[in-house]
Amino acid sequence: MTKQSYTLKILNSRKVALNTTEITFERGKGILPFCAGQYVKVTLPKLLYADPKGESRDFSIVSSPNTIDTLVVTFRGSESGYKRTLLELPIGTAVSVDGPYGVFTLPSDTGRSLVLLAGGIGITPCLSMLSYAKEENLPYDITLLYANTNPKRAAYLSELDALSAESKHLIVKKRFGDITRIFIEESTKDIESPLWYVVGPPAMVEASRDLLLGLGVIEANLFVEEMSGYSGEVHLTSASRLKGSVTSSLSTPEMLSATILEVLDNSALVAVTDVEGDIIFVNNKFVEISQYSQDELMGQNHRMLKSGYHPQSFYGDLWKTISMGKVWNGEIKNRAKDGSFYWVDTYISPVFNNDGEITAYAAVRFPITEKKEAEEKVALEAKRFQQVAEDVHKKNEELEKIRKATLNILEDLDEEKKAVENRVLDRTKQLEQEKEKLMQVTQNMKGGAILLDEKRNVIFTNANIWDMLGATVEKINDTDALDLLFNKFKDTDIKKYFQRCIHGETFHVPEIESGERVYEIFFHYLEDHVRAERKHFGYFILIFDITDVKLLERSKSELVAVASHQLRTPLTAMRGNVEMLIDESYGKLSSDQHELLDDIEISTIRLIGMVNDMLDITKLEAGNLEMTPEKLDIGKIIRSIVEDLKDYAHKHAFTITHDPVAESVPSVYGDRVRVRQIFQNLIDNAIKYSRHPGVLTISYHSRKGVVEIELKDNGIGIPKNEQSKLFGRFYRASNSAKSASSGSGLGLYIVKSIVEQLNGSIRFESVENVGTTFYITLPTEEKSITST
Ligand code: ADP
Repeated sequence: MTKQSYTLKILNSRKVALNTTEITFERGKGILPFCAGQYVKVTLPKLLYADPKGESRDFSIVSSPNTIDTLVVTFRGSESGYKRTLLELPIGTAVSVDGPYGVFTLPSDTGRSLVLLAGGIGITPCLSMLSYAKEENLPYDITLLYANTNPKRAAYLSELDALSAESKHLIVKKRFGDITRIFIEESTKDIESPLWYVVGPPAMVEASRDLLLGLGVIEANLFVEEMSGYSGEVHLTSASRLKGSVTSSLSTPEMLSATILEVLDNSALVAVTDVEGDIIFVNNKFVEISQYSQDELMGQNHRMLKSGYHPQSFYGDLWKTISMGKVWNGEIKNRAKDGSFYWVDTYISPVFNNDGEITAYAAVRFPITEKKEAEEKVALEAKRFQQVAEDVHKKNEELEKIRKATLNILEDLDEEKKAVENRVLDRTKQLEQEKEKLMQVTQNMKGGAILLDEKRNVIFTNANIWDMLGATVEKINDTDALDLLFNKFKDTDIKKYFQRCIHGETFHVPEIESGERVYEIFFHYLEDHVRAERKHFGYFILIFDITDVKLLERSKSELVAVASHQLRTPLTAMRGNVEMLIDESYGKLSSDQHELLDDIEISTIRLIGMVNDMLDITKLEAGNLEMTPEKLDIGKIIRSIVEDLKDYAHKHAFTITHDPVAESVPSVYGDRVRVRQIFQNLIDNAIKYSRHPGVLTISYHSRKGVVEIELKDNGIGIPKNEQSKLFGRFYRASNSAKSASSGSGLGLYIVKSIVEQLNGSIRFESVENVGTTFYITLPTEEKSITST
């Protein structure tokens, strides 16, 4: 875009805010092409009022480059001769417009978001940019932060509202008052890494720039433009201050020796300006680095190279130094024509005439962009490194916390582990001891033992097993034990028994034959009961040869059966005869004879009872006491027993109380004769071992699956220390003889055996000299009668 001078007519002038005027020039199609954001210099034909600053001023363009017919500028009014003249010029007046100037323009190749920060009249280039961005549908979201001292001074509020209403890519945030950090932060918190454009009065630009840098915005993302029309109506390049003192057109090459120039030409950017700062000489290097042609540079102010990086005070110092006749040296960041930046180490020296007056300034600039970029990079890296270091530090602190917490947990775990190890050691020791014990016991016992682990591997056998299983010593191998066992009992259910054991059952087979011999085999499913959750760890099989025991038992039973039968027949005959004698069927008896015969009768009855008991025991133990289970009305059976024993009870002044609820008692299952035998025995005992006046209370309790019959007497009771032996064979308590001299001590043994065979139970509670209560349960449902 080349800069030219155009003559444009004033088309219109209007107030857009307090002390703010907009002037529209007739542009004419395509005349004065510019980029949105640029400014023009307007030179008036003549001043109506004197103005020391002359007849030209810079104005930002507010219209869009697409508005081809007109060009619009806006400015704040002032008392200056120039502004007063401009406001009074009639419509149609032609003025000279130069431009375009400035690099404060929209980026063309980025998809990044933009934040425009406009202060006061700084809205003008922004409005141009926003209109253009909308018209061209440019690929970025724009947020405009627009600050004014008050709404009256704020131009274009309604235009902005209209624009943002029409475009979803534009957000407008207004603020009346100073621009604050909070305002910037809150308005832009959701925008990721935008490009920042700051434009407005110099003080506002400088303050905003500092705020943004403080918020971490980097220079490369920050573009600033200070507006003219402030601080004495000059564009804030200090050079303007010296306007008017331009002396002459100097021939610069004459001032510098040709040799030096040649050297410098290759290494430095050399420029000479007049006292106003307008360029009057540049060397090739200057042209090369700045990218402007010599023509473009000549007569221009250095301002056009400003990058916006340095604060205004920086240039102020520069000018102060050189205008005082001293050499200034410093590093400056400038902007090349294509918008890229370059750094130069700059020496500016005043040039004096013979009178010692400053007539020009000579500047020699050495390019240091690479060095600066490296420095910036280092600074950036350092900042990043610091951030990383801080993060690492934070992470380290967190890690340290976690490490400590972990250590604590580990310590706890360690203790726990030790405790577990100790428990395991104890347990192992215990198991070792148990194994040792088992070995000792099994080695010394008559039976054969096989121990298998949970995988059914034989892990231990005792010496006896091999004889028993018929293995020769040479062939001994633990793993054979199970096969030998199965083989020995191959005609039996041995494998089925072993399967039962594998399925978790512990039981014994009381008799199992192999050839001529009889064995008893115990199968144990081994579990570790110590731990909460049981662990299966193997099987234990114990085999006893019980051939001899069985033979002995058989002969004993046979003996008892034969003896009992042999005894019962004569005893029954004896009893009949004695009864006949007592009945005086064979003649009158004296009282002595009566007494004698009564004693004989009692003894005979007792003997018959004992013989019957012994026969029962023989049958019970041989497992051939016959039982025919049937549904029984237990209340009725007991009532009939009570009825039968009425006379006997009466004789002993004994009262029997029968529970009134007996009627509703459910039926039980049992063998009628044997159930009767149970209660006959118990009621008989209650009467036999009673105290005067004796009472027996019979009651019934129905529970799940059983009926419990309670027989509570107030008799002599059973001494505490003898209670455990009560159900033993031939046991009679030490206090029993006082109440009943007769008694075999077999009754309760038989009762318990029968009850258990009927799947019932019996227990008692007794206090000596207070009474005894027997509790018998019988099943209400049919179950197979247990056989031993
Ligand atoms: P026996 O009555 O023939 O001695 P049992 O086996 O019936 O034999 O009873 C064993 C013993 O239990 C009795 O000798 C007696 O000492 C004690 N006994 C049984 N029933 C009672 C009871 N109701 N009150 C006190 N003692 C009893």
